Formats: sequence, C-alpha cells, structure tokens
Amino acid sequence: MERKTQVLVVGAGPVGLLAALRLRQRGLDVTIVDQNEHDTARSFAVVLHARTLAMLGDLGLFEPFVWQGQAFKRIVVFAGGERRAILDVPTFGELADGGLTLPQNVLRNALELALQKEGVYVEYLHRLTTLRQDDSAVYAEVTRREPVSAPLSSQGRFEWRDAEALSLQADYVIGTDGRASAVRKGLGIGLCEAAPPQIYGFFDAPHEPPAGQSLELVVGPETNAMYPLHGGITRYTFELDAAPSKPLDAQKLRELRLARMPWHAAGHESVEWSGVHTFERALVERFGQGRAWLAGDAAHTTSPLGAQSLNVGLREARELADGIAEAIATGDRQRLSTGYDVQREREWRKLLCFGGQPSLSPATPSWAKQHLQNLLAALPATGDELDACLATLGVTLI
Ligand SMILES: Cc1cc2nc3c(=O)[nH]c(=O)nc-3n(C[C@H](O)[C@H](O)[C@H](O)COP(=O)(O)OP(=O)(O)OC[C@H]3O[C@@H](n4cnc5c(N)ncnc54)[C@H](O)[C@@H]3O)c2cc1C
Repeated sequence: MERKTQVLVVGAGPVGLLAALRLRQRGLDVTIVDQNEHDTARSFAVVLHARTLAMLGDLGLFEPFVWQGQAFKRIVVFAGGERRAILDVPTFGELADGGLTLPQNVLRNALELALQKEGVYVEYLHRLTTLRQDDSAVYAEVTRREPVSAPLSSQGRFEWRDAEALSLQADYVIGTDGRASAVRKGLGIGLCEAAPPQIYGFFDAPHEPPAGQSLELVVGPETNAMYPLHGGITRYTFELDAAPSKPLDAQKLRELRLARMPWHAAGHESVEWSGVHTFERALVERFGQGRAWLAGDAAHTTSPLGAQSLNVGLREARELADGIAEAIATGDRQRLSTGYDVQREREWRKLLCFGGQPSLSPATPSWAKQHLQNLLAALPATGDELDACLATLGVTLI
C-alpha cells in the first residue's frame, strides 16, 4: 500500500536533517530516509562559517557546538614559501565572531536530536531507488534493507540485503542525498564540471602546543590547509597529485609537511585519523523542478578546504523548507523556480567562477592573482562575508 507524506527528505546528512527540522518547525508532516545505518563511527571534522553558526543559533542549536568545537578567527595565507596575508575570519552577528571546526557527528547528532524532539525519526536503511512526478504529487520507490544474520564481515560489521520495496507518495521531495544523488538522477539533471577533480589527503594529528585560533592556507600549484580542531588536534589537508598507493601514515605526514609547510616540520609523531577523497568542482544544470528539489552536495561540490558546499547547503536547506512550506500553504509553486532555483544558481556560478574570472584591482597581489580559484575555494566564507574577505585583496567576484 502507498504511504503518504507531505514532504519526503532523501538523505539524513547535515543538510537533510536541517531541512526536515525546518519543515517540522513550519508544521509540516515530514518523512526522512537514509540508505545507511545510523553512523556512530568516528567522523571527520567539518568547518562551520560564521553565518552558519548564526543560523544554527537562531534554531537554538548553538550550545552543543561551543564546547565540542574549536573556534578560529584568523586566516594566515602562505604562498611561494612565505607568509603573504593575515585575514580576519568574517563575523556574523553577536554569537558568531569567527568560524568553528567540529566533528561532523556532533553536528548531525544535534540536528537529529532536535528533529526527534519534534517527533520525527530518521528511517535508516531505506534507500530511494526510483522517483517520478506529475502535476499533483511525487512517487518514490524506497527499498528497506536489513542485516544478514550471517556471515559477519571480517571487520565485524553487518552485511545488508534488500528486504522490502515500499511506495511513498509525497507533495514534495527534497534530495539531500549527497554527491551520487539518486534524486538528481531520477530527475534527469546533469552536473556541469567547473574544474577537474582534485584528490585530497586528510590527517588529524596531535599538536603541541595546540594550534590556537588561526587557520593556515598554503596556496600554490596545490592548495593545503591546517585547521585547529578541539582537544589539541590539528587537521592537515593536502591536495595530492595522485591517489596514494598505501594508507596515509605519520611518515607521509612528515614528508608532506616538510615539502609544503616546513614551519611545521618538527613534532607530530602520530596520526589519529587519515583519509583520502576525490572532490569534484561541479554544479547541477538546475536545482530541481516541479515538486522535487535538491540541496547540499546533491546539487554542488567543491574543494573541502573552505567547506563552502556544506555551509551553503545548510542555508539551502532552510530556504527550500521555507519555500516548500509557502508553496503548500498557497498552492503556488512558482517561487520555488523563480526564487530558489535562480538564487542558488546565481550564488554557485559565482563561487565556481562559471560567470568568468573574478575582476582584479591593481592592488591585488601577484600571488593571489596566480592562485585565485584555489584561494577562493579555500576561504571559509560565502556570500557577503566572502566578498568582504576578497575585497581586502582587491578581488571582486562576478
Ligand atoms: C573524506 C571527506 C572529508 C571531508 N572533509 C571536510 C572538511 O574538512 N570540511 C567540510 O566542511 N566538509 C568536508 N567534507 C565534505 C562534507 O562532508 C560534505 O560537504 C557534507 O557532508 C555535505 O552534506 P550533505 O548533507 O549535503 O550530504 P552528505 O553528508 O553526503 O549526506 C548524504 C546522505 O544521503 C544518504 N543517501 C545517499 N543516497 C541515498 C539514497 N539513494 N537513498 C537514501 N539515502 C541516501 C547518505 O547515506 C548520506 O547520509 C568532507 C567529505 C569527505 C567525504
């Protein structure tokens, strides 16, 4: 039998959870599904911009982050082996006087708890397989997965099998199902690539003394960053020219630090976590149509250094939830296309430089001109705050 809901959110990453929460706060009936099990594993760190912190503060979600996050207020930029600039991290209102690094599961757990308080529980192990829409509704096929009792894999993790096919009918669907989005594919929306994919290696290493409140960016042919994390840990991120043939270990960290950040060459004998991932810089042809819309990594991806995809994605979740609530209340869907779609595309075309190279002033330093796109994607800001930060270097986005 077909189940009905007002809004189906596909994907319970940070963006999907925020969309579901906002929809519930607007009084709508929401179903949220995720293909995976609830993730309790150690998660990588995310970077929250000042504007995002202010928005989460408005939703009453600031407190859990303060004591588990690490604030940063300055960006020290290096190029050609020299320190070139010290920029203030943009601020936004009273609560957010800088950025914050945070384990991603702290963000997800806070959002999920707030959602549960509104009476909504994520339906884990439910994977969207197909999607179609007509003028009156969206029809989704979802497969429920279940653990296979035996055998367990060698890592002690369960294996899963498809157990049951479910049909869901929704007034609207929000696709927040990440880079390989099934919602995007179901809508037949393609991705436009802004630049070739980049491979990044991540290391979390103890830092003595703790790294303080500065983020370091090293721009050059490859872009690299050092972010302070909570508890005296430092996150090093290096752009790599090829996928490494073996896991990233302390020896590799030493080599990369010596080559790219020689001022950090001493110390750090251990690595608490490391990983490698490829990041595309890409944007959807459109953000959705009719009754099905996209937000977050399902719609765009960029370099992880500035965390722009996640932070803009969280803003999109709120805008989209408000737009859908309005469309349901008024019966007018037009503003989703003329508002959400157009605004989102405008912001992302600027961020990914689809509209052309940013305009430069005579005051723009040559190192910034030379590495402009990488610098732009690595700054922890978007919107007016990014414009203000770039203005100090004589750069205007177009
Ligand atoms: C290794 C790595 C390091 C990163 N480092 C950083 C960093 O340092 N700083 C930073 O800010 N960002 C970082 N990012 C990027 C950041 O994680 C993403 O931008 C962010 O998670 C996007 O959030 P989202 O909610 O849009 O998508 P996601 O977090 O990807 O969530 C998508 C969800 O959808 C679910 N899903 C997918 N397909 C289906 C389906 N068919 N049906 C149901 N559910 C589905 C997935 O299980 C997932 O839970 C990193 C990413 C990776 C992979």
